[in-house]
Amino acid sequence: MDKSKIKVIGFDADDTLWVNETYFREAEHKFAQLLSSYETENKIDQELFKMEMKNLDVYGYGVKGFMLSMIESAIDLSNGKIPSTVISEIIALGKEMIERPVELLDHVEMVLEELSKKYRLIVLTKGDLLDQERKVEKSGLSTYFHHIEVLSDKKENNYLSLLEHLEIPVSEFVMIGNSLKSDVLPIINIGAQAMHVPFHTTWAHEEVSPQEDNGNYITVNSIKGVLDYL
Ligand SMILES: [Mg+2]
Repeated sequence: MDKSKIKVIGFDADDTLWVNETYFREAEHKFAQLLSSYETENKIDQELFKMEMKNLDVYGYGVKGFMLSMIESAIDLSNGKIPSTVISEIIALGKEMIERPVELLDHVEMVLEELSKKYRLIVLTKGDLLDQERKVEKSGLSTYFHHIEVLSDKKENNYLSLLEHLEIPVSEFVMIGNSLKSDVLPIINIGAQAMHVPFHTTWAHEEVSPQEDNGNYITVNSIKGVLDYL
């Protein structure tokens, strides 16, 4: 990690600044309970994940796509017999996720306050535009950030065009996030720097194989650890 040229720090939001994946796990569990008369929880989890992957290109990331995938899975798993009352409960599950208060992770505010004195901070997140904007607003953190960008995906091209648009040279940029696949490896591949702050729960879609993991980044146990490097 070379901080001498760094001027801009990009933060991932979900599971880096605040809790997110935990709510998806809870919703999946409740979803499996709603469908327990049709299949085992394990099978329901697998089918839902497959449906989400199938729909990703169509719906993108976020809670609304997740709700639609739950409904489609419920129809499939019940062979079309799912009562509309259960569909309503699935929709309610998703709305509960959207309406939940934002739960900041430990030390986030202190770290942002410190870093904002020395660097320009931006948020780079993916998901539903409205939902992510609402979370930034509810988090009370928006004053620390110069820019908030909700991307449709976090691949190398998405990062390159955003940095170009914001006129940030890759050599001056470091990205901090919990996902190796989305926040770290594509950033390393475009020639910028990255720090990995793992969260205890990772969505299967965000997992990377050892072959993909070039190890060319720093891992810190909690967000507080980034202050040792920046
Ligand atoms: Mg994340």
